[in-house]
Amino acid sequence: MKLNIGYFYPELLNLYGDRGNIQCLKMRLQWRGLQARVLPLTVGSQIGFAGLDLILMGGGSDRDQELASRYLGAVKQEFRRFVEDGGVVLAVCGGYQLLGDYYRTKDKKLGGLGILDIYTEWEPGRLVCNTVLDSPLASAPVVGFENHSGRTFIGAYEPLGRVLTGLGNTGASDLEGVRYRNVVGTYLHGPLLPKNPQICDFLLERALERRYGDQGILAPLPDEMERLASREIVQRRLGRRTGQRMQKNFIQGIVDSAEKG
Ligand code: GLN
Repeated sequence: MKLNIGYFYPELLNLYGDRGNIQCLKMRLQWRGLQARVLPLTVGSQIGFAGLDLILMGGGSDRDQELASRYLGAVKQEFRRFVEDGGVVLAVCGGYQLLGDYYRTKDKKLGGLGILDIYTEWEPGRLVCNTVLDSPLASAPVVGFENHSGRTFIGAYEPLGRVLTGLGNTGASDLEGVRYRNVVGTYLHGPLLPKNPQICDFLLERALERRYGDQGILAPLPDEMERLASREIVQRRLGRRTGQRMQKNFIQGIVDSAEKG
């Protein structure tokens, strides 16, 4: 089995190691004997959406987002069809903002893909911190780093998670990110997926199921290093006791998925 991973505008949308998400998707497939083909979808390249299984969009400066927004205008319809057909998308920060109707920067209104009925407004004072979430997509806490001026308002959509510590979508609610069909939007860099392998496997499973049906169940991986790294971050941010409790949930999550498999 093989998945095609499209990386949208790597020359514009790639901040704080977002490219590492691609490496993680690829390696976690290969460790299971599955194949991954990564297609860098640079500005102006022909994009065959029908062949894609997963799309990654990373973060970007307001300036680079402005350019990306112009080019994305040309693929809006096909991108939307991909999403409505169950295509898997991970959009981080600037990429997340561009999934919505618009991002109003300090001096311009950038049109988004309009796939989600959400919007983003620039406000002075960047939201910068390490963040920990409780997300239904992972039994372990989700950890990452955020750095943005935009505040994203997601209306009635489900968030990626609830903020345990950090700032999230607006800095004023406890919501972080968004979920819609097989789309995950988030402010979390880090990069997100190597730090949170359960989210990576969630995305891979959705993509495998869409392409191959029931065969798309992933064998569990040991994830010992990932577990230790996650525990360290959670303990630093939330204190030792909470960290230990969450660690137990993480281990239970691995046992559960092994039993399922
Ligand atoms: N330029 C956007 C903002 O500051 C997104 C930044 C990012 O992708 N980290 O809100």
